[in-house]
Amino acid sequence: MSATDATLWLQPNRERSLQRRHPWIFSGGVARVQGSPAPGDTVLVRAADGSELGWAAYSPESQIRARMWTFDPSQRVTPEFIAERVAAAAARRAPLLGGGANAGAGGSAESADGSTTDSARLVFSEADGVPGLIADRYGDTVVCQLTTAGADAQRELLADSLAALPGVDCVFERSDADVREREGLPARVGLLRGHAPASDLVAHEQGFRFAVEVEGGHKTGFYLDQRDARAAVAQWAPARRVLNVFSYTGAFSVVAAARGAAAVTSIDSSGPALAVAARNGALNGVDIGQLMEADAFTALRGLRDRAQQYDLILLDPPKLANTERQLEKASRAYKDLNLLAVKLLAPGGVLMTWSCSGAMSMDLFQKVVAGAALDAGRAAAGRSASGREVRIIGRLHQPSDHPVPLSFPEAEYLKGLVLQAD
Ligand code: SAH
Repeated sequence: MSATDATLWLQPNRERSLQRRHPWIFSGGVARVQGSPAPGDTVLVRAADGSELGWAAYSPESQIRARMWTFDPSQRVTPEFIAERVAAAAARRAPLLGGGANAGAGGSAESADGSTTDSARLVFSEADGVPGLIADRYGDTVVCQLTTAGADAQRELLADSLAALPGVDCVFERSDADVREREGLPARVGLLRGHAPASDLVAHEQGFRFAVEVEGGHKTGFYLDQRDARAAVAQWAPARRVLNVFSYTGAFSVVAAARGAAAVTSIDSSGPALAVAARNGALNGVDIGQLMEADAFTALRGLRDRAQQYDLILLDPPKLANTERQLEKASRAYKDLNLLAVKLLAPGGVLMTWSCSGAMSMDLFQKVVAGAALDAGRAAAGRSASGREVRIIGRLHQPSDHPVPLSFPEAEYLKGLVLQAD
């Protein structure tokens, strides 16, 4: 897209965050917009004193009024610029997918046992310098989401750039995330480049095979962001009774079953997700155990009332807080869930608990979980007046293909605690 002649002028002193390479310009920081840029157009950003700060994508409907493409005013947002950003992001995933200098995004990483990983997030929006583009690779298929007016306006160039990556035969768009509403964008789902995605598309990861629901599934079809957590589950699962709450398509359940869990129970409110979980069990040749289609809050209370006990509980709820304003309500829900989970832990039991709400910091999450553990102990005080100690034995984060720039801590959204109860 050509740069328009439009210029976005900042309020006095609002250039400071940009000088620290933070890519967002909030509506309150904008003094005026000169020219008449269309949604998604590239605008020149100037400080109040007139100095040029770089180029940004304009989002008239969003509170985040513009997102920086580049902090170098001498650069231009050309097709080459965009293709280079996408290619560079994909190349950074080479160690995960193939390692070799030429493997680029086309490879797949082989581990000692001959198993491969062919799936990773290639582009993570602002964290990779491509605001509004999420692109996940599953083998030869790339599933993308365009979440901002800027990315939407560059749809064709972004599709070309993704299709040009080595080994990519299909680019499919899943731009149906809620966040598009905040940008005034309609949902869009469909093929952008190449052949239609295989209906039996599978993500290969460390010897496991996980079905990817490209068209009907959540986000881009699979939760790549729990890759490191799957390794942690593998470590703790042997011989344990496992409860996987908010299981989605049962990736944790498959890993636990394959690593010798004594029993596995998966809970999710989505019947279709559980049907895929059953398929994932078969794909990996494991008995995936019991699948419960239920509301997690209700199901956990039921298990508590029946005094069930588990040695490993996985608690990975959907995003409960979309904004800071929802934090209080979300905190109560996180507390409820974790309180119930702690009560279901057998002696020595391990709880892996996550929050994927970007608005909730690790600090706050830990406080909420601490409150839950304390209350769970109090409730059990009949057994022991002093309650029960729960210790942090590990922390979990989004994996390396979901990086967090030091200049953009907002990219961090997924955090987890590994807890062990007395
Ligand atoms: N742990 C999963 C991802 C979980 S995503 C993985 O690694 O793949 C969150 C899941 O919570 C979704 O599958 C969604 O269907 C489910 N969900 C949302 N609200 C729920 C509720 N109230 N009770 C049970 N499941 C719910």
